[in-house]
Amino acid sequence: MTTVALKDVTKVFPDGTVAVDNVNLDVNDGEFMVLLGPSGCGKSTVLRMVAGLEDPTSGAILLDGELANDLPPRDRRIAMVFQDFALYPHMTVGDNIGFPLRLSGVEQGPRGERVADVASALGIGDVLARKPNQLSGGQRQRVAMGRAIVRRPGLFLMDEPLSNLDSGLRAELRAEISGLVRELGVSTIYVTHDQAEALTMADRVAIMRRGVLQDVGTPTQVYGRPATLYVAAFLGSPRMNLLEASVYVHLDRYVALNFGEQALYLPWDDIRARAVAHYHGERIIVGMRAEALTPVAPSTQGDVLQGRIRYLEHHGHESLAFLDIGATAIVVDDIGGAASEPSGGSGRFRRFGHVVQRLTGRGEPRK
Ligand code: ATP
Repeated sequence: MTTVALKDVTKVFPDGTVAVDNVNLDVNDGEFMVLLGPSGCGKSTVLRMVAGLEDPTSGAILLDGELANDLPPRDRRIAMVFQDFALYPHMTVGDNIGFPLRLSGVEQGPRGERVADVASALGIGDVLARKPNQLSGGQRQRVAMGRAIVRRPGLFLMDEPLSNLDSGLRAELRAEISGLVRELGVSTIYVTHDQAEALTMADRVAIMRRGVLQDVGTPTQVYGRPATLYVAAFLGSPRMNLLEASVYVHLDRYVALNFGEQALYLPWDDIRARAVAHYHGERIIVGMRAEALTPVAPSTQGDVLQGRIRYLEHHGHESLAFLDIGATAIVVDDIGGAASEPSGGSGRFRRFGHVVQRLTGRGEPRK
């Protein structure tokens, strides 16, 4: 369909605001790319530059490998879906969906057929004669999608299309939208600040902060192996545990991770030892997801960490144990209640996670 490439793209507004700061990003053919980040991080500005509604201050935007910086929006084969749907209130649903076809001069007959096809694919075939104010929020959303699809675009750009809906409908529509878009095979850039939306819908997620791209990867990659401390802290609830450690390699025997008052000794043949061995002599931050830490029996020997349990939290589907390891607070999935000693007791946990940041030396840790 369409590929998108942003090369060193920067946008500085006339008032000096650097909304997008040297962003490099590729969207593959048919890929569902989600731009995720807090309000004001520059997501919409990226989208508007891809649409041609805003010019980059520097850098290149390529569509299907061709430089598109000066290509007018109407020549980009792009359809946009906005937060407020932007439907025409005086037009019927059918006319709203068919509007882009009318603009490009498609005759009434074929236009009606195409509108009927699209509406039936979206499950709104029976409301074509209604006006937008006679529809539910979900139906309005589908009409907006219909209007985007009707011209068979090469690229969808969606800016928080679900943010005005209640949470039940959002969950329903996010599966519907990503299913529909995949069925159509249309490349998509979808902007949201909602991480559940990002992680459930995306083929890949691009996380931004203050105009800077922090990380790009599949939902599993960015969640499990975040590239920066910001992403580690931003994604997931409860947030990722971050523990500082010094690494010492005892040649061919074991790798020691020194967490201050405690240390883990990983035998050399343990693959986890290899993953940190090249940080010998350095201090690192290790990220560990609550669910990646396994509570073990108090008598367990070997590579375990011990923490003092402060309190337990029950969430219905899971229980979380909040502990202190030295001066660091961590949270652990209390699977099967294994950590459920009374508050003030201790818990022992196996495993460690992924190196999020090197505190000494240079370079990015994600491998
Ligand atoms: P939101 O989720 O709130 O829409 P966003 O991540 O999409 O936020 P942008 O709308 O891209 O963020 O804005 C990025 C930054 O650029 C913000 O600081 C914003 O205030 C600023 N900005 C956006 N448009 C303009 C403009 N026309 N002039 C000056 N600054 C702008």
